[in-house]
Amino acid sequence: MRSKHRVVIIGGGPAGSCTAMFLKKADIPSIIIEKETFPRYHIGESFTGETGGQLRKLGMEDVLTKFDYLIKHGTKVYGTGGKNSFYIPVRDRLGPNQSQRPATTWQARRSVFDKLLLDTAVERGVETFDGEASGVIMEGKLLRGIRCRAKDGSEHELMGEVVIDASGQNTFLANKGVIGPKGRGNYDKQVAIFIQVTGAIRDEGEKRDDTLIFYRTKNHWAWFIPIDREVVSIGIIVPSDYFTSKKMSKEAFAREELYTMNPELTKRVQNVQFVEEGKGAANYSYNVQNWTGKNYLCVGDSHRFIDPIFSLGLLFATKEAEYAAVAVKDYLDGITWEAEKPFLQYQNYADRGQDIIQTMLDCFWEFPFPFQRFAHMTHQEEIIDMFAGRIYGDAIHEYDSVKRMRRLLDMKGFDQSGIQREEPAPV
Ligand SMILES: Cc1cc2nc3c(=O)[nH]c(=O)nc-3n(C[C@H](O)[C@H](O)[C@H](O)COP(=O)(O)OP(=O)(O)OC[C@H]3O[C@@H](n4cnc5c(N)ncnc54)[C@H](O)[C@@H]3O)c2cc1C
Repeated sequence: MRSKHRVVIIGGGPAGSCTAMFLKKADIPSIIIEKETFPRYHIGESFTGETGGQLRKLGMEDVLTKFDYLIKHGTKVYGTGGKNSFYIPVRDRLGPNQSQRPATTWQARRSVFDKLLLDTAVERGVETFDGEASGVIMEGKLLRGIRCRAKDGSEHELMGEVVIDASGQNTFLANKGVIGPKGRGNYDKQVAIFIQVTGAIRDEGEKRDDTLIFYRTKNHWAWFIPIDREVVSIGIIVPSDYFTSKKMSKEAFAREELYTMNPELTKRVQNVQFVEEGKGAANYSYNVQNWTGKNYLCVGDSHRFIDPIFSLGLLFATKEAEYAAVAVKDYLDGITWEAEKPFLQYQNYADRGQDIIQTMLDCFWEFPFPFQRFAHMTHQEEIIDMFAGRIYGDAIHEYDSVKRMRRLLDMKGFDQSGIQREEPAPV
């Protein structure tokens, strides 16, 4: 069975749903192919300030308020041994030259949140296809459509003027060889083990539902994210070989780490009950090159994922959704129709934003003490901008903190995209 569409989107996670909603605002209809039945489990429960801003742009604030989503005011990072903590508040700016103001964002149970987003997209007129994208239909440089298998086993061809890959870590178009190559990210050889618990001790007052990060050593840390009034999501991230050398179940490993990783974490988990079985993710850090083409592009995790520590995945998904919709409109309106690479400007804009976060994360891991000084003392406002996700455009590349971080990283041989050269530059 063959059907024709203006835009075909693979994946109904936040990237797919938000892209469809931004397209809808521009009067462009789309169809989302989603293989899972929602609600489905997903990790990634904490939002940054600008992620909240994107949801507000999509008119989701009233919905989230109605469902009593937890309010996040900031992120507290505890250093090794529970010492040297610093706090990054959520703050917004009305415009690039305006001063920062206190703001809030949300925490969410992702299964419920992702369903809410997809349902809202459908309510607003977005079509869905219940089934799995299985193949591509190419004609020269054009990606004419996507082969799909519906849940009843029937085969379909969804033809699109534009195809958007929002398949998350499945990286559909990269796996089909349409875009790429796909390379390892800097935080590739790590494992995240996560559990949901009740009985954890949160802070008092306004900061009760904030995100807490506990650092042990390089690439060994934990998150603590309240997801409702009772339940907290806790994730333990360690190098893969450390986890395999333990030869433990996920639950036993998590329990051991809760009591040994960081005394500030241990204090909060004395009487916790696990309310679900332990889950895990590995090899989640990667970078796909050339991720747009003549009539196709990616949004969200489908082209790059750096590191989960500062909760920026949903930021990329929701920001790129907005920018992708603008680029698709320009293409469908004929403005960029004839260009060899109509989405290159979007790709470069999105990559440069991600590069800022790559710089910040690489600096956090490679130079924790200088980073802490930037965040806590010398460049507080600039780091707050980065944590919020105000990372797009040229101005931020001129921030003093960004230049300093890049100079430090250059000494260890990192370029701006976080790729480490074989030979570090002479110090
Ligand atoms: C350990 C860990 C912790 C994280 N914590 C945070 C956090 O606290 N905050 C944050 O913002 N981000 C976090 N993230 C990242 C965040 O979860 C992702 O960035 C976000 O989910 C990306 O959204 P997406 O829509 O691109 O992909 P997804 O949410 O993965 O959605 C992709 C969808 O595509 C569907 N799909 C895939 N292949 C096909 C196919 N062939 N056919 C049809 N459908 C398909 C999938 O079923 C899925 O529903 C974390 C990530 C990890 C690994």
